[in-house]
Amino acid sequence: MSEPRAILTRDLTEPEPVPEAGIARAVELMRSGRLFRYGEMGADQQDAALLELEFAALVGRRFCVAVNSGGSALFLALKVAGVAPGDPVLVNGFTLAPVPGAIVHACARPVIVEIGDDLVIDPEDLRAKARASGAKALLLSHMRGHIADMDAVMEVADSCGLAVIEDCAHALGARWKGRTIGTFGFAAGFSAQTYKHLNAGEGGFLVLDDEAAAARAILHSGSYMLHHQHASRPDGAFLDAASGETANFSLRMTALAAAILRPQLRELPRRLARWSQIQARIADGLRRSQFVALPIRHEGADPAPTSVQFRVPSFDAGAMQDFLAEAASRGLPVKWFGAARQIGFTSAPRHWSYARSDDALARTHDVLATLCDIRTPVTLSDSECDLIARIVREALETVADARSGGGGPTERPQAVTSARHQTSQGR
Ligand SMILES: *Cc1c(COP(=O)(O)O)cnc(C)c1O
Repeated sequence: MSEPRAILTRDLTEPEPVPEAGIARAVELMRSGRLFRYGEMGADQQDAALLELEFAALVGRRFCVAVNSGGSALFLALKVAGVAPGDPVLVNGFTLAPVPGAIVHACARPVIVEIGDDLVIDPEDLRAKARASGAKALLLSHMRGHIADMDAVMEVADSCGLAVIEDCAHALGARWKGRTIGTFGFAAGFSAQTYKHLNAGEGGFLVLDDEAAAARAILHSGSYMLHHQHASRPDGAFLDAASGETANFSLRMTALAAAILRPQLRELPRRLARWSQIQARIADGLRRSQFVALPIRHEGADPAPTSVQFRVPSFDAGAMQDFLAEAASRGLPVKWFGAARQIGFTSAPRHWSYARSDDALARTHDVLATLCDIRTPVTLSDSECDLIARIVREALETVADARSGGGGPTERPQAVTSARHQTSQGR
């Protein structure tokens, strides 16, 4: 290759700073020393309570309970949905470890449903497994922000009597045919972990509409009988009824986390708009490689992605490993869902030996075998997006070239090179 190798020097794990208003409020709280989530003399820490009101309004649900992680929000959702120990819970096979983890935490049994090459749940496998398992709950993970055909999923859920809990850790602000993701099921969980749309380091939100379930969620979250300090709460009768028979799991969000999250809600529209541009720009660049397959987006889906996914269907495991090494040598960390062991935020059903199910999942494994993932911080510039796509294209070409035997058939790399020049002229 005569052109110099493109190198990325940007750290893709770099988040945006906390807004100054959040820093100021956190400092104020620390100066006061009043850091506990409930004050016995009255609500001295309103931060979490106010954030819950604001978040419920943002998503468009009646109640919100802010908790210490997205995983905790999903666990609470399962508990208040009435999932009992040993119950089967359906979950799609493309998701992150805290999702089957929440099911195991609730002492329930994951039943893993196939995905397609659109990366979302297969409604027909959902129907088959709902019938075969007798499950009454579906934990639907909108993993990496890919939105399933919600009409099809909800039709199956309704006909099989499934309570749907949406995992919206990657879907804050996403929509299906105009309707906000997180409003389709019985409840939804969101995450405020650093690499999601809102960053408290750790944090999560449970949203739901049912009053009795909301009362139990508040009590489970650990309100020490000070639940009147929740501003987003059902009528006191529901809380009284659940009190005494609802265990304290001590999961509620800290005042400090809420303090740094509240000003970020105002940043959300800007972040979502920029993330969409980043996603579209990198996808355009990736489309120019003959090796890349981008997941199709269902018509009606309006996702809110914070990262980019693509597959390399013609590569085997060895070629995938060479590609990751090539990309890394150009400064680009690419994550891979086909690795034998889970590493750095990738995860696949065959890694979850704690959640063993009998499901064969041939299609899911086939899709994940060449699925790649690139983190895209909201602060990426257009030229950094172009550079990322270029590095992926060039690293794929290099590997394909080397594997075709160097002196062997040269048609493939040549075709890629000329296609690249044609497309770049068209821009
Ligand atoms: C991050 C994430 C969660 C929740 O993670 P926490 O670290 O517990 O906040 C849940 N589901 C998916 C798909 C995630 O990526």
